[in-house]
Amino acid sequence: MKSKQIFKQMSPYKPGKQIEDVKREHGLERIVKLASNENPFGYSEMVKDAIPKQLDHLEIYPDGYSTELREALSNKLGVSGDQIVFGCGSDEVVDLICRTYLEPGKNTIMATPTFPQYKHNALIQGAEVREVPLVDGYHDLEAMLKEIDKDTSVLWLCSPNNPTGCLIDKESFSNVMQKCPTDVLVVVDEAYFEYIETSDYPDTIKALEEYPNLVVLRTFSKAYGLASLRVGYGVASKDIVTLLNIARGPFNTTAISQHSALVALKDEAFLSDTKRKNTKNKHAFMEFLDSIGLSYYDSEANFLFVKLPVTGDEMFQYLLTKGFIVRSGEALGHPYGVRITIGNAEDMEELQQYVNEMIASSQKKGNVN
Ligand SMILES: *Cc1c(COP(=O)(O)O)cnc(C)c1O
Repeated sequence: MKSKQIFKQMSPYKPGKQIEDVKREHGLERIVKLASNENPFGYSEMVKDAIPKQLDHLEIYPDGYSTELREALSNKLGVSGDQIVFGCGSDEVVDLICRTYLEPGKNTIMATPTFPQYKHNALIQGAEVREVPLVDGYHDLEAMLKEIDKDTSVLWLCSPNNPTGCLIDKESFSNVMQKCPTDVLVVVDEAYFEYIETSDYPDTIKALEEYPNLVVLRTFSKAYGLASLRVGYGVASKDIVTLLNIARGPFNTTAISQHSALVALKDEAFLSDTKRKNTKNKHAFMEFLDSIGLSYYDSEANFLFVKLPVTGDEMFQYLLTKGFIVRSGEALGHPYGVRITIGNAEDMEELQQYVNEMIASSQKKGNVN
């Protein structure tokens, strides 16, 4: 049959290892998943308590306008309600942007490696994808700006970047916004915004007042710990949001997910506790990596990309036998590395031991050869 040509060169998203499969394959009882940057501390108890009350009317369609969540977020962010578009995860907002702004004859610019959904969805829309290599894990913003021509419609900035964790600082951000033509949409994906440690990060929401071509993406999947419920959002000018809403399905977030996100917003203690623990455990892990001579990219997120003397796949396989699932750099465009989500203190300590063993035994082998 006559599918789009481009689909012949593409394949479906390959999910990370599922916990149950690993248990079965390796005869393990306990699995620690540090592969998808989920919150190792779970999610707010307030959300857990609120969900049963949402089960009474599953026969009714959700509020397609997400009225209550929209109002709460608009107050929190200081933007008007019609500047927000909700998605089934920010993944869906990425798709909405591609469907609204990309088509054959247009091009789009992004870093590499970065979050793969920008490229995937852009290709589906028939756009040309221009990928600009990172430098030391950071976006090469000048090189990205140079790629812009009259057919460029979207520039993607992932900050902190997945998979490296590197952040675009205040000055770099305002520089890129000033130099970028005003008819090119700039998307800043801030999926890990809540984890940022440095104070040198741009206030992208405030910048919306100045730049009508800006979209900021955020999500409840990462620091809020609600990945399973699928709620993310974009914040932009009313005009952009109106267009994205044309592409959006009328009931793309569920009543349970909307309400859970609303409650999660109120539990500031959970969020700050998550952030505090992540920072502490990340720094402890960095000290460990320093002590055994492994380097890693600067990270303002809840993961570290660690550079290795062995392949990412080898490290991945070794850790799997110990019950730890991490993400090999192989699939992320960086074969000699792994991306590791920062877990709880106990698990991170156990992980250190295995990483140490693996590196030591590879060095021994190296000496023999
Ligand atoms: C996890 C992630 C997302 C997707 O999050 P959802 O809201 O769960 O769809 C988007 N961007 C980046 C960079 C991510 O790492």
